[in-house]
Amino acid sequence: MAQRHILKQGDPTLTKHCREVTDFNPRLHTLLDDMRETLAQANGVGLAAPQVGVLRRAVIVLETNVAEDEEEYMIELVNPVIIEADGEQVGAEGCLSVPGEFGIVKRPEHVKVRAQDRNGNFFEVEGDGLTARAFCHELDHLEGTLFTTKATRMLTPEELQGAEES
Ligand code: ZN
Repeated sequence: MAQRHILKQGDPTLTKHCREVTDFNPRLHTLLDDMRETLAQANGVGLAAPQVGVLRRAVIVLETNVAEDEEEYMIELVNPVIIEADGEQVGAEGCLSVPGEFGIVKRPEHVKVRAQDRNGNFFEVEGDGLTARAFCHELDHLEGTLFTTKATRMLTPEELQGAEES
């Protein structure tokens, strides 16, 4: 596994539409392994392939809603589609490609996603709260959409400082 460079806002790759994954080959597996490593090193809750310069429909989301005696784990989603969305949450959201900035974004409270695993097998996975937010955020990346275009407003430096202290 190797850590990859995360592209930052302003790089044109981040605004492009990503193509479907059709080959579930070692190249895809290396990409997913590298994305895991990169996400872990960056301490994020999600990473999309275009953020490491690959215009393919693959994302990784960290499931943080786990029991106290369980470890958080990463979910690999290839060609993901949201098939159900319920409820609403309004809260601060950030992105590894937009470091140090947070904005208020409205998202569903609960989503169900249908995707393929690294071998092409279809599965469904559900997420609540932060995980639902991460699914939506990462899938937006596959359409070339950054959260900054969806935020009703960005947090001020004073609010950011308060957030860090809490
Ligand atoms: Zn992001």
